[in-house]
Amino acid sequence: MNTTARPATVFDIQRIRADFPLLSRTVHGKPLVYFDNANTSQKPLPVIEAMNEHYREHNANVSRAVHQLGEEATAAYEGARDKLARFINAPSRNELVLTSGTTQATNLVAYSYALPRLQPGDAILTTVMEHHANIVPWQLVAQRSGATVKAAPIDQRGELILEQYIAMLTPEVKLACVTQVSNVLGTVNPVREIARECRKRGIALLVDGSQAVPHRPVDVQALGCDFYALTGHKMLGPTGTGALWARREHLDAMPPFFGGGEMIREVRFDGTSFAEAPHKFEAGTPNIAGFVGLSAAIDYYQSVGFEAIHAWEQQLLAYATERLREIPGLRIIGEAAEKEPVISFLIDGTQATDLATLLDLQGVAVRSGHHCAHPLMQFFGVPSTLRASLAFYNTREEVDAFIVALLKVRKLLM
Ligand code: PMP
Repeated sequence: MNTTARPATVFDIQRIRADFPLLSRTVHGKPLVYFDNANTSQKPLPVIEAMNEHYREHNANVSRAVHQLGEEATAAYEGARDKLARFINAPSRNELVLTSGTTQATNLVAYSYALPRLQPGDAILTTVMEHHANIVPWQLVAQRSGATVKAAPIDQRGELILEQYIAMLTPEVKLACVTQVSNVLGTVNPVREIARECRKRGIALLVDGSQAVPHRPVDVQALGCDFYALTGHKMLGPTGTGALWARREHLDAMPPFFGGGEMIREVRFDGTSFAEAPHKFEAGTPNIAGFVGLSAAIDYYQSVGFEAIHAWEQQLLAYATERLREIPGLRIIGEAAEKEPVISFLIDGTQATDLATLLDLQGVAVRSGHHCAHPLMQFFGVPSTLRASLAFYNTREEVDAFIVALLKVRKLLM
């Protein structure tokens, strides 16, 4: 991506920050520095207001009602599907299953796509750097079917070893998986190359886009994958929203995973027939207001523009990395050539959790722990890391405040 496309001066950071009310609060009497964006993003006013307005003016259930409010709620919910489809350049709105997040999306693929295909001796390929949401569902269906889960290796810089991933795409692999961006390392993976190799071999590829969609424009057709999972709450939207994009041929062949209302054509005790995709995967009342908020989140990204977002975030990433490197005994985990603004690190002689707890008292919110990536922690031989994850509404001044706070708490612990 061209990072010099737009000068940073065009990016009106103060105007953007004014849209995020939470950013101006204090924590323990200190101005908040929110660097836990990979965990969940903050929400801009248009998202909060859209949900508020939905409940104040349009609330009703979707699909079942013919009254005006029901039509308005249905139009808003289905409008979110249209917007998400355009946001990731899906060829059709009917290829987008709305879910509660990435976790529901990967589980849907596990039980509805993978499980019926898996035979003893088959395999699912994932990588060492995955979030548990892109490991555990595969293990659960592998256990039921006698298949195995293989993990492609990474190197010490935190980059996927592409040749090895490709070498592991053997005939027994029935599904390949990879994250587009690592939630711990920030590494951007070569998804297009992986997709090309999978297609050559007739293996379906699932991409976990949770940490990609908040930072870069996504085009599922250009990526060439079969499944793309995303979660709304990391991309300015409410919790409990997300989506699975899948090629139509897969959705048509997949049996429903959850049964109930909304997903049927006719229910009879001698045989129930199901609605077409995507509705056959959306049993029950969905998170209507949540998707209204997610629609507004997409509008917000588009009003700021990913070119500007990318340029600003890459500046922040470079600056924060440079400042962190000044700290004696600090080791950055994840030094891939291409990264999104996520920095995991450790400081000699300190525990990540102690640092995070003391940083909180300075108003700095960062995450410590295994980040739902146990195999990655095992690879680096550490129980946990401290992770600073940035968003386009963060500033250099916040990076400075974070470094001052880190130096202070480091001193207290040494
Ligand atoms: N994959 C990645 C890479 C993630 O970072 C996360 C959230 N931490 C998930 C999957 C799971 O997302 P959710 O909990 O919203 O389903």
